[in-house]
Order: sequence, then C-alpha cells, then structure tokens
Amino acid sequence: MTSEHTYDALVIGDGPAGDAAARKMGSAGLHVALVEAAELGGECLNSGCVPSKALLALTSRERRPWDEVVARVRAVQLLTRGSDPDGGFAEAGVDLYRGAARFLGPNEVAVGETVLRAPHVVIATGTAPAIPPIPGLAEANPLTNRTVFSIPSLPGRLAVIGGGAIGLELGQAFHRLGVEVTIFEVLDRVAASEEPEVSAELERVLQAAGVRVETGIRIERAARQEGGRVALWTDGRRWEFDEVLVAAGRSPQLPEGLDRLGLALDQRGFIETSACGETNLPGVWAAGDVTGGLQFTHYASLQGHHVARHIIAGECEPRPAPVGVWAIFREPEVGHAGLTEGEARRSGRTVRTARLDARELDWFRASGSTIGFAKVVADAATGRLLGAHLLCERASDLAGEAALAIQCGLTAREVAAAVHPYPTAAELFRWACAQVSHG
Ligand SMILES: Cc1cc2nc3c(=O)[nH]c(=O)nc-3n(C[C@H](O)[C@H](O)[C@H](O)COP(=O)(O)OP(=O)(O)OC[C@H]3O[C@@H](n4cnc5c(N)ncnc54)[C@H](O)[C@@H]3O)c2cc1C
Repeated sequence: MTSEHTYDALVIGDGPAGDAAARKMGSAGLHVALVEAAELGGECLNSGCVPSKALLALTSRERRPWDEVVARVRAVQLLTRGSDPDGGFAEAGVDLYRGAARFLGPNEVAVGETVLRAPHVVIATGTAPAIPPIPGLAEANPLTNRTVFSIPSLPGRLAVIGGGAIGLELGQAFHRLGVEVTIFEVLDRVAASEEPEVSAELERVLQAAGVRVETGIRIERAARQEGGRVALWTDGRRWEFDEVLVAAGRSPQLPEGLDRLGLALDQRGFIETSACGETNLPGVWAAGDVTGGLQFTHYASLQGHHVARHIIAGECEPRPAPVGVWAIFREPEVGHAGLTEGEARRSGRTVRTARLDARELDWFRASGSTIGFAKVVADAATGRLLGAHLLCERASDLAGEAALAIQCGLTAREVAAAVHPYPTAAELFRWACAQVSHG
C-alpha cells in the first residue's frame, strides 16, 4: 500500500555528505527525511576510510592471521557506527527510510511503496568503484574496496590496478600480510596528484620493501582462468595472479529516474552544481563525491553542511574555496596541503620552494623513521605559504597545520616564527618554512 509524506527537506544517501546535511537541518528544526539504500555511514564507514585505516593499523606492527584481521576491522566499524542501529536520527529530528530512492519528479521520490515530497532534495549518493574498460576485466570479477575486506582467505599474489591513494594503501597493507603485491599504474608515476619528488620517493620505498610497482604500463586484456587465477596482458607480457584488486577511480552513483528530469551532469557524469551546491533543477541540491570535486570525507561533510545552511537560511552564500588538503595513509604517510610547485607556477605566480629531509630533525632520528621530507611552496613576491607536501611519519597531522596556515594567509616566515614544541614531527614543517623564507 502506498503511503505519502511531505517534508521540508529530503536527503538521499547517508554518507558523510548526506549525514551532515540531514543532522544539521534536523537540529535546526526542519522536518527532514533521510533515505539510505544500504548500511548507514556510506562508503567511508563501510568500505572506505574506516576499514582501510583499521587494516593499515592492524598490519603495521606484526603479521596476523587474516580471519583475526577481518574480525578486528569489523569491530572498529561497529565501534565507529555507535550503539543505535538507526544512527540516532530520531533524536536528531530526522525520519530515516531504508531503501533505494527513485526520482518521480524533481521534488518527489519513491522508496519502495512510499512517496516522499519536499521543496528541497539533497542528492548525496556518492560513488562506486570504477572498473576500467579493459577487455575481460569486468567479467573476471575483480575485487574492489567493497569486497576486499571480506575475502575468505588471502591470495598468494595480488595485482592492484591503480597507483593512487587507495591502491597504495591497500597494496601496502596486503603486502604486510605476506601477499606478493604488484601495483600497475597507467601514468608514469604513482600518486600522480602529489609532487613528483613525493611520487619518486614513494615508489622507491615501496620497491625497497618488496612491492613491485609497474608505472606507465597499460593492461590490454584480463581473463579469469580455469582454476580461478587471473591473467593480465600488458605490452608483450602475460602476468598471472591469484586475485586482482581494482582501485582505479570512482564512478558517480545516481538515483534512478534522474535521467528523465534533465539534471545537468559534467562530462564524466558527475552532478554539476552552483557554488552554493544547487543543481540546474530548482530545489534540487547535491553534495559530496557525487559532485565530482575532491573526493574525501572532510569535503563531503563540508559540502553537506553548506547545502544545509543554504536550505535553512533560504539564501545562497557561495562556498569558500577550501584549501586542498588530504593524506595517504601508508608508511611513511603523505600529507598534502595547498598547491604543488607546478600548480603554483601554472597559476602565474613566481614561487620559491624549500625541501628539508626528515633525517635532519631530532624527532625523526629519535623515532627511528628518517625516511622522507617536507617540501614547501611560497609566493616569492609576498612570502605567503601556498603549499606543503610531506612524506614522513605523521604527515597527515602536519598537513592539517599547513592547511590552517595557508587558509589564514600566513607567510612562511610567520609559520617559522611560531614556536613549536621540541622534539616533534611538526618541526619539519616549521623549519622547511624557515628555509623558504630565507630564500
Ligand atoms: C578504500 C577507500 C579509502 C578511503 N579513505 C579515505 C580517507 O582516509 N580519508 C578521506 O577523507 N576519504 C577517504 N575515502 C573517500 C571517502 O570514503 C569518500 O570521500 C566519502 O565517503 C564520500 O562521502 P559521500 O557522502 O559523498 O558519499 P558516500 O560515502 O559514497 O555515501 C553515499 C551513500 O548514498 C547511498 N545511496 C546511493 N544511492 C542511493 C539511493 N538511490 N537511495 C538511497 N541511498 C543511496 C549509498 O548507499 C551510500 O551510503 C576513501 C575511499 C575509499 C574507497
């Protein structure tokens, strides 16, 4: 039997973007409905950040049996999820509907037999792993981040297709579990969004640890063999693995029915929005990875907050452009804040850079992890810090400090003048800033 309900706002998807939007609007007193097709928490909690970081932490010290690792990853997910199976939405003033939302009209959505209407609809449906169009790959049923955390046993040899953050993190974790790992990257370097020096050092450290890294290589064909192994063909070579994991980008995940409504999409199929998060359909908003910007949890929830603010206040205040900040959680970590040297130069600025090696600093010597460096990029005319690129232990935390400095418009000299506790990893960033400000 059909039931119909009208709300002030309707949110589709409970990943970081939808969750932030629904809770903010609910706590502001709006009558809000949230629709989620799968487990609450989105990709981040169920098959992304949380299980991957738990896996990395569990494999960093000792080699453990796979079933114990899987059980512990699940335990971390349960802890993060909290005790209420319905996510505490009732207390947040949000009605939760379980099921896949289908658009009937711009402001009307069906979930099973239930029809929901609202003047504001927020699409926060995220992305799915993209399977590159390599002949035979999809048919070979490769692993993705959605399946890899629950494989029944470890493969002996694993091919990882994609040398970006996800491929590097998972590749290292499986290598530490005793799996023979080969990472294939079609571009000429891994972690291609990072400074070339960071990519080169990452590749060196991976190879030294025993992870095979093949860059600038195109996989032409794949096939699941009799007996279950997977064969890959590259230029003139046949490779054989027990499993293949695809970590080669993400595809937008759009609710059914949107195609009939004329929603504007970009060339890659992600939802186009205004600076305020509104789509070309009045009253239809989008937030998070489905909009195709920086695909990280912190940006997804920021966008969810922004959209909610605009819906609550009824006015559109353009989103401030956030400083690009993220981390790759492997050992050593990569921390990225602001512009790379190449990006800064392409923006027409004259830049100065400095690089300081971790082995120069007492904290890194004392902790026994002297691999890595900090590279900072400053505007030569104003001295303002434009970017910081860190490859070292605790780089993820240093990237947060660097992002704050960049966002506040500090000069490298001002960062260097701020006293930091001794001995800490953060001194690496401070002294790199001192170097760049001395020219
Ligand atoms: C392996 C991996 C590791 C990662 N590690 C990090 C990290 O360390 N740090 C970081 O910042 N980011 C990380 N990310 C990225 C992060 O997970 C995403 O940026 C974030 O989850 C995006 O949030 P979102 O709300 O936009 O979408 P999602 O988290 O994808 O959530 C979308 C939700 O919408 C639901 N949905 C989809 N269609 C419908 C429908 N029709 N009806 C109802 N519900 C629907 C889905 O079920 C899902 O719950 C990682 C990603 C992966 C894959």
